[in-house]
Amino acid sequence: MTKAVFSIPSINCEPVKSYSPKSKERNELIKEYDQMMNRVIDLPMIINGKKITSKKKINISPPHNHKHIVAYCHYGNQKDVKKAILACLEAKQNWKDTSWEHRAAIFLKAADLLAGPYRQKINAATMINQSKNAHQAEIDASCELIDFLKFNVKFLNEIYSKQPESSNGVWNRMEYRPLEGFVYAITPFNFTSIAANLCLAPVLMGNTVIWKPSDSQTYSAKIIMDLLKDAGLPNGVINLIHSTPEDANKVILNSPEFAGLHFTGSTKVFKSLWKEIGKNISKYTSYPRIVGETGGKDFIISHRSANVDEVVTAIIRGGFEYQGQKCSAASRIYIPKSQWAKIEKKLISEMKTIKVGDPRDFSNFVNAVIHKNSFNKLKSVIKKAKKDKKAKIIFGGEYDDSIGYFIEPTIILTNDPNYDTMKNELFGPIVTIYIYNDIDFEKTLRLIDKTSDYALTGAIFSKDREAIIKATNILENAAGNFYINDKPTGAVVSQQPFGGSRASGTNDKAGSYLNLLRWVSPRTIKETFVPPKNYKYSFLKKNS
Ligand code: NAD
Repeated sequence: MTKAVFSIPSINCEPVKSYSPKSKERNELIKEYDQMMNRVIDLPMIINGKKITSKKKINISPPHNHKHIVAYCHYGNQKDVKKAILACLEAKQNWKDTSWEHRAAIFLKAADLLAGPYRQKINAATMINQSKNAHQAEIDASCELIDFLKFNVKFLNEIYSKQPESSNGVWNRMEYRPLEGFVYAITPFNFTSIAANLCLAPVLMGNTVIWKPSDSQTYSAKIIMDLLKDAGLPNGVINLIHSTPEDANKVILNSPEFAGLHFTGSTKVFKSLWKEIGKNISKYTSYPRIVGETGGKDFIISHRSANVDEVVTAIIRGGFEYQGQKCSAASRIYIPKSQWAKIEKKLISEMKTIKVGDPRDFSNFVNAVIHKNSFNKLKSVIKKAKKDKKAKIIFGGEYDDSIGYFIEPTIILTNDPNYDTMKNELFGPIVTIYIYNDIDFEKTLRLIDKTSDYALTGAIFSKDREAIIKATNILENAAGNFYINDKPTGAVVSQQPFGGSRASGTNDKAGSYLNLLRWVSPRTIKETFVPPKNYKYSFLKKNS
C-alpha cells in the first residue's frame, strides 16, 4: 500500500551523442555492430515471458546487405496468438493492481538502462535491421525511446493528479482505470522508438498488450524485450508475436476482450483494420479504442523572402534523412520562381556531396531502403518519371540492389502540381519540386491544402511575418505538426507532440498526455460523508 503522495524525479530530454571520429560512443557502437553482424541469433516469440520457437523461420538480413543473414525469426500461427491473449488476460490483474510508482519505476529504470548499457545494443540493432546511420539510430532508438519512457511517467503523474471538484460533505475522486481486456499494438518498421511506445503507452496505464511488430523490425524488437525484462517488467504484460497479419487479426479482432488498437503504419492497412473492427463491433465487451497514426505527404513551401541556404538544408535533411522513410519526410516542395535559380544551384551542388551506402561507413548520409518491395516500387516511380512529359529528373534517378536496396536520392521537377509524386506517399528518397509564380503565394497555399489526402507535417520558410500568418491560417488543417522556418521532421517527445489528421490518422499525439488518455477508462467515485435519512425535500412541505 502506498503511504505517501510521491513526486517524480525531474525529467529532461536525452542529449544526443555526436559519434564524431574517435569518440567513445563511436568506438562502442562499431564494436557492437560488428559483433551483431558476425553472429546469427534466433528471434523467438515471447509469450508470458517464455521464448516460443517454431518450425517456420524467416531469414533476417540487413537491407544494405540482403544476402547476409543475422537472425532467424520464428513465425507463429493462430494457436500462438490465442496463447498471447490468455497471457495478457492472466497478467492483467496483477499489473493493473501494481501501484503506479512501481510501474513508473520500471519505466524509469528501463530509460536509464537504455541510456547506459543498452544504448549501443539498440542503436546497432536498428542500424542493421532497419538500415539507419549512427545519427538516425541514436535520435530514434536511444533518445526518442528514452524520452518516451521518462515523459510518459510525467504525463501519467499529471493525469492521475487531475481530480474533480468536491462540495461540502462530499469527496469526489477520479480513478484512471486501464481498459477492460487487452490492447493490440501493430507497429511499423521505421522507428524503433515508435514500435516500443505503441506497447509502452498502454502498458504504463495498467493495460497488457499483444505486440505484432513489422517483419522488418523484429531484430530491434528483441532488444526492446530484453531491455524491459531487465528493467523488471513482469511476464505477460507485453506478449510479442510474429505471424501473418491475417492470423493475428483473425484471432484478436474476434476476441470479446479486444479493448483497443494502437497502430502506426500505412493508411490502407489502418482503414482495413477499422472496417474489420466495425464489422465485429457486437462481439466486444466494450467499444474498442482505435488509435492510428498513418501516412503523410509532407510539404515545404518557401516564400520569396526565405533564406536560400535554410530552404536547401531543410529539403535535404527533411527529404532524404533515413532515405525519406519517415512519415514526416518532406516530399513535395513549392518554390517561388524568383528563387528557383539560386535554390537549384545550391541544392544540386549540395546533393552531389551526399554519399549513399552501408551505415557501418559513417560518411554515408543515405543508406538502403527497407526491403525489395519498397525498392521495386521506388524503381518503378523513377522509371515512370524518366518517361513522363510532366516530370524531369534534375538529380539522381539511379538504383542498385546487387548488394543492398540502394536508391540514389532523387529530385523530380514537375510542372503539374497534381503530378502523382506530389500527391501520393512514396516512402523513399524521392522529392518532387513545383515552381510557382511569386504573386500566386496565397493560391499556392490553397493548392497545398487540397493536393493530397494526408495532413501530417508541413513547413513554411519566410522572413515575412505576413506570409507566415497567411500560411499558418490557410494551412490550418493541412498538417498536425506545422513548422515555421524548420524542416518538417524530427518531432521531439514532450516538445512537439506528434500526429496528423485527415488520412494521416486519429491525431492522438504521441509524446503527450493526450495519447495516454486513450488507454484509460476513468471511473468517478462520489463519497458522501453524512447521507440524508429521509427522501422528503423541504420544497414538499406546505406553506403554514
Ligand atoms: P505497413 O502498413 O506496411 O505495416 C505496418 C504494420 O502493419 C506492420 O506490423 C505490418 O505487418 C502490419 N500489417 C500489414 N497489413 C496488415 C493487416 N492487414 N492487418 C494487420 N496488420 C497489418 O507500414 P510500414 O511499411 O511498416 O510503415 C510505413 C508506414 O507507416 C508509412 O505509411 C508511414 O507514413 C507510416 N508511419 C506513420 C507514422 C505517424 O506517426 N503518422 C509514423 C511512422 C510510420
